[in-house]
Amino acid sequence: MQPSATIQETLNTPVAGRYDVIVVGGGASGTVAAIAAARTGARTLLVERGGCLGGAATANLVAQWVAFFHGETRVVGGIPFELAERVQAAGGSDGFHRYVMGEAAGTPFPLRVLPFNPETVKWVLDGVVNEAGVDVLLHTAFARALVQDGSMAGVTVETVQGRLALLAPVVVDASGDALVCASAGVPSQDDGGERQPCTLSFRLSNVDVARFRAVPPDERRARVLGGLQRGELFWESLSFVSTPGGTDAICLMSRIQDIDALDARDASRAEQEGRRQIASIVGFLRREIPGFGNAILADIAERVGVRETRRIQGRYTLSEEDIMQARGFDDAIALGAGPMDRHQPGGTGIRLYAPPEPFEIPLRALLPVGVEGLLVCGRTLSATREAMAGARHMATSMAMGQAVGTLGAIAAASGRRPSSVPAAEVQQDLARAQALFRRAQAAHQPA
Ligand SMILES: Cc1cc2nc3c(=O)[nH]c(=O)nc-3n(C[C@H](O)[C@H](O)[C@H](O)COP(=O)(O)OP(=O)(O)OC[C@H]3O[C@@H](n4cnc5c(N)ncnc54)[C@H](O)[C@@H]3O)c2cc1C
Repeated sequence: MQPSATIQETLNTPVAGRYDVIVVGGGASGTVAAIAAARTGARTLLVERGGCLGGAATANLVAQWVAFFHGETRVVGGIPFELAERVQAAGGSDGFHRYVMGEAAGTPFPLRVLPFNPETVKWVLDGVVNEAGVDVLLHTAFARALVQDGSMAGVTVETVQGRLALLAPVVVDASGDALVCASAGVPSQDDGGERQPCTLSFRLSNVDVARFRAVPPDERRARVLGGLQRGELFWESLSFVSTPGGTDAICLMSRIQDIDALDARDASRAEQEGRRQIASIVGFLRREIPGFGNAILADIAERVGVRETRRIQGRYTLSEEDIMQARGFDDAIALGAGPMDRHQPGGTGIRLYAPPEPFEIPLRALLPVGVEGLLVCGRTLSATREAMAGARHMATSMAMGQAVGTLGAIAAASGRRPSSVPAAEVQQDLARAQALFRRAQAAHQPA
């Protein structure tokens, strides 16, 4: 949407709170960042525009945590693994499963994932943030970064009470879109190229998942290709997650192209196009796919899922070579597992390949250039496009969140800038919290 003019607004914004650490975005990475900061002793505020925490896992119905494991080796511990255990204990998941990604696209890729019921994740996360003492503001949208003399001073937000100011020396940008960074003037690495397509997920109930699983992969692929040819499907996927009970299928089958999710009009068009595609896909599944004949459309995600927007310019840019050559970093604070999955912009396929080993993510990739007191985590890390495609999975995002939440709290408690806290201090705290951040640790983890 191209603005045609500007107006000047004069605002008197009430200051509604002072904190040590403010986290913007209560998704995968931000929720864990807030828990880590609060457990490390910081007065912590978590700001989320939606009505629940969890981000893609809940609001976008992306109902499986990927990248806890590289092959059979666990690479993420600490708070994310604790959350995985608590979701299972709450009956929201029946544990880690083997899942074949990209099967219908002819690029089968086996993974160990944790499928879950997103509704359970919502209240498990509520419980964990409340226990940690995090102050949570839901239905609260970030508005503007408050920067004084090159350092963060807080943020303004829009709430049901109107615009409020919230002050803190450390702000974590976990918005997925680097909204705080953009507002604070941090450069982005966005090269303006085509972004990965978006997906609006939906949930079907009354599905005979066991019957579907019995269909041979070749037959499934042939049916998918037929659906694509007839324009009833939009990419080579029968991708769905089955929640505990085996009667629901949470489907990631729409593919919405040519969307810049940072453009207001595109973001609206994406939702409507997603629903149009879902109407077609549901008809195809009921008619063509064994096990789906009596399926009932139970839910459509409240928001379209966005794979890619801004990647910030940080003090280090993680590259595909770093990942594929398993480069080690002195300031490693999280481990990624991949896969490197890049959905073809404009196409119907997916490029999928595995890092040869778990890969280390350096703290510098989460420190934006130019502004002090600002940290990032999740899919907006400082990375090349390919590297982001391998580091964006939710378990990896959560691990980054634990690192920056810990760093933010250490910095605030000691009155230091986050950039002057030695990585070794963060690593010590992470190790105490059983987080994994070095390849050597992962190798010794029992599955
Ligand atoms: C369709 C799709 C399928 C995927 N499949 C998988 C998968 O199977 N498994 C997997 O592990 N990963 C998957 N991913 C990747 C993964 O979901 C994301 O990369 C990951 O969630 C990134 O974490 P994050 O914390 O950066 O962002 P998110 O989890 O998206 O969280 C960002 C949060 O910020 C909030 N926010 C945004 N703007 C504002 C604002 N102005 N004010 C306040 N809050 C705001 C959002 O509401 C959201 O809660 C998929 C992604 C998509 C889109």
